[in-house]
Amino acid sequence: MVDLKGQYSKIKAEVDAAVVEVLESAAFINGPAVSRFQASLESYLGVGHVVPCANGTDALQIAMMALGFEPGDEVIVPSFTFLATAEVIALLRLTPVMVDVDPETFLMTPEIFERAITAKTKAVVPVHLFGQSCDMKPIMKIAGERGIAVIEDAAQSIGADYIFRDGRHQKTGTLGRVGCTSFFPSKNLGCYGDGGAMFTNDDELAAMIRSIANHGQAERYYHERVGVNSRLDSIQAAILDIKLRHLDEYCDARRSVADAYDAAFAELSELATPVRASHSTHVFHQYTLRVLDGSRDRLRDHLASLEVPAMIYYPVPLQQQNAFKGLVPPDLELPVADRLCTEVISLPIHTEMDAATQTRIIDAVRSFFR
Ligand SMILES: *Cc1c(COP(=O)(O)O)cnc(C)c1O
Repeated sequence: MVDLKGQYSKIKAEVDAAVVEVLESAAFINGPAVSRFQASLESYLGVGHVVPCANGTDALQIAMMALGFEPGDEVIVPSFTFLATAEVIALLRLTPVMVDVDPETFLMTPEIFERAITAKTKAVVPVHLFGQSCDMKPIMKIAGERGIAVIEDAAQSIGADYIFRDGRHQKTGTLGRVGCTSFFPSKNLGCYGDGGAMFTNDDELAAMIRSIANHGQAERYYHERVGVNSRLDSIQAAILDIKLRHLDEYCDARRSVADAYDAAFAELSELATPVRASHSTHVFHQYTLRVLDGSRDRLRDHLASLEVPAMIYYPVPLQQQNAFKGLVPPDLELPVADRLCTEVISLPIHTEMDAATQTRIIDAVRSFFR
């Protein structure tokens, strides 16, 4: 699905030198590489604070801990997403309120969010799924009027811009109260292990997040609160600082692959190509088709027989995951999420795709329908 070896081979000299520098300095934890990357990412995103941490799931958890919710508070979350988003809500004894998504963009819309609000709603987690932004301006307005905290899950959307009606752009993850991302290797800005970060423009919240990520300390060995231990290690930070310099070109490379797929599949009435929202740029963490004639699983088998990898993101909506039994109302119906789980298929997309490989994938898909 991705070609991490090919990508590494192009930046090997830079990355190897940066890793060796950390090894020779022996500053493995909270070394200068971490603060350098933090500053680079703050400047790239145009955000006041980046707080690195150990992974994207921790980022979501720490953000929610820092916002001071009480057990039983409701957090609205789309049901068509990776489980981590709702997992941390349940882990913190908050109540995940799962909502449906738009069938074309796969995103939670402002209308869907608004309909799910109750007196207990304390937060909402817009997930910028597959690499494009939720419609943040109306989401922020609705949330602002009701005192609801917005925690963006930007694990799949780093580098993508939200586009305001007046044409102004702002990076996803920097629009809400706090944004969270993951540097898992296959993410658009991936390291060579685990990593994550939180973003915020709120100075006080940033200090709280930093403290919680560091055992609740404000000053060393003086613990103000119960926190966690969640750090981005120096080697990963050094790698990320190099890769960040290439992020925009990586996003462009993914978009070119998506453009070619779109053109190739436009004539196939059995397939719906990904819809690009007018309020967002798309960085195509995934290139996800909908198979409209019920043949999704057979298409996947056909591709597998031709040695073309394809993945189902996601096969089960959150409200049907066993992990959330007892947390979901028995009569909850989310028909779009249910249907998408039977229709979607994601094709390989990455920064190193050559024309011959892409043609082979396109021909494999076409040969199933023609
Ligand atoms: C990857 C991902 C996460 C979790 O990130 P990890 O670094 O794997 O913990 C959370 N939310 C979404 C939408 C993701 O894709």
